[in-house]
Amino acid sequence: MESRTHPSNAVEDTVVSHDIEVLVVGAGQAGIAMSEHLSAGDVPHLVVERDRIAERWRSWRWDSLVANGPAWHDRFPGLEFDIAPDAFAGKERVADYLEAYATKFDAPVRTGVQVNSVRKMEGKSGFHVETSDGDLNARFVVAATGAFQKPVVPAVIPETSGLHQIHSSAYRNPQQLPDGAVLVIGAGSSGVQIADELQQSGRQVYLAVGPHDRPPRSYRGRDFCWWLGVLGKWDAAAPPRGAEHVTIAVSGAHGGHTVDFRNLAASGITLLGMAGDYADGVLTIAPDLRANIDAGDANYLSMLDEADAYVARNGLDLPEEPEARVFAPDPECGSDPIGRLDLAAAGITTVIWAVGFAFDYDWLQVDAFDSNGRPRHQRGVSTEAGIYFLGLPWQSRRGSSFIWGVWHDAKYLADQIAIQRSYLAYEAPRTEGILG
Ligand SMILES: Cc1cc2nc3c(=O)[nH]c(=O)nc-3n(C[C@H](O)[C@H](O)[C@H](O)COP(=O)(O)OP(=O)(O)OC[C@H]3O[C@@H](n4cnc5c(N)ncnc54)[C@H](O)[C@@H]3O)c2cc1C
Repeated sequence: MESRTHPSNAVEDTVVSHDIEVLVVGAGQAGIAMSEHLSAGDVPHLVVERDRIAERWRSWRWDSLVANGPAWHDRFPGLEFDIAPDAFAGKERVADYLEAYATKFDAPVRTGVQVNSVRKMEGKSGFHVETSDGDLNARFVVAATGAFQKPVVPAVIPETSGLHQIHSSAYRNPQQLPDGAVLVIGAGSSGVQIADELQQSGRQVYLAVGPHDRPPRSYRGRDFCWWLGVLGKWDAAAPPRGAEHVTIAVSGAHGGHTVDFRNLAASGITLLGMAGDYADGVLTIAPDLRANIDAGDANYLSMLDEADAYVARNGLDLPEEPEARVFAPDPECGSDPIGRLDLAAAGITTVIWAVGFAFDYDWLQVDAFDSNGRPRHQRGVSTEAGIYFLGLPWQSRRGSSFIWGVWHDAKYLADQIAIQRSYLAYEAPRTEGILG
């Protein structure tokens, strides 16, 4: 492992000599934002990434994916996308953007280096780090490995079922799947977009819909990203009580449109409640489709109400949009829900699990996790001094795991690291004897 020394570093010689002052693990948007703020504060650091910069945007997303937010919004403050501000950047363009951003300030990134373990050094400050390219010591470590680490595929349908089962992160395009109908489980942004694409490609599609929010794509001429911003919702510190696991169904596909499950049903997709147990080729379906759609509608309508109130209170000149409150008729699958789905009888050959991701911090062997393996932290400052998390969902606010939000959390962490460095740099004044 390349070792860097920084003669200008005020704390280099205190306590123990470190190879690296700050090690940032992961070069997705979180790691790059962290590096920008550390660079701005002249803090010596190194970013290590096991793959390529922004690898998740390149190889963990389906081919047609575009950003959920328009280009003016889903970006860092220091660089604009080279597309129309209201357009939605494709996934490769997002990755290119992040790479260009890292180049812009010459981020010290080492790609192709996996961090295998980080352990607290006994009797010294800092951490011993084992990587695929050698060991190093670091005074501070930022785990910028993101919120979307390990694909979750619940052990519901056994492998012996003969069904082709994949996680949404392994879905690329309809041609990749064996012939036959597809069951998509999970109706957040990934599930609805994948189901829509498959249906439009001519597949028979079943979509299991859980609790969700579905903001209007745009209302009164403004994108939902704008509304969430002015209404203070990106900055909400915690999800509403009881809504911790509610997913957001939005889409930038086809120029962006509001996700409405009635329209998906009208296009031919069969909607289901949440998937339950599986036995003898039959999946039990919860009787909650109606309730989930109603709750999604209520969330949608409450946002329109809040937007209208904001317009009135601030005297904004935004065109009224009463048609946004008019819903298409309810689909039959809502009024006469399916309770049991015989997968073979329905012609289903593929199941796509779009139910999210879990943490994977096996490599971070420090005292910063609760008994369920979840990070213990306050705004990313962990309970193990010197260890920081970045990119977690709701790390400090709703926007934390998104491109624009992580930039602000990174700034906060850089500030916290600077504060700690100034304490470590402190040297008590020499006390002089009474005779001078
Ligand atoms: C389908 C999907 C669509 C999304 N769309 C949007 C969107 O439109 N707009 C938006 O703002 N957000 C979006 N997000 C959310 C979020 O912006 C992305 O998930 C983003 O990739 C998170 O960036 P990150 O840097 O936090 O983590 P990641 O991009 O996951 O980066 C973490 C990096 O750490 C590396 N790493 C992990 N472990 C190690 C290790 N031990 N050693 C070395 N390197 C390691 C990984 O290789 C990876 O490159 C989307 C998420 C998903 C899943």
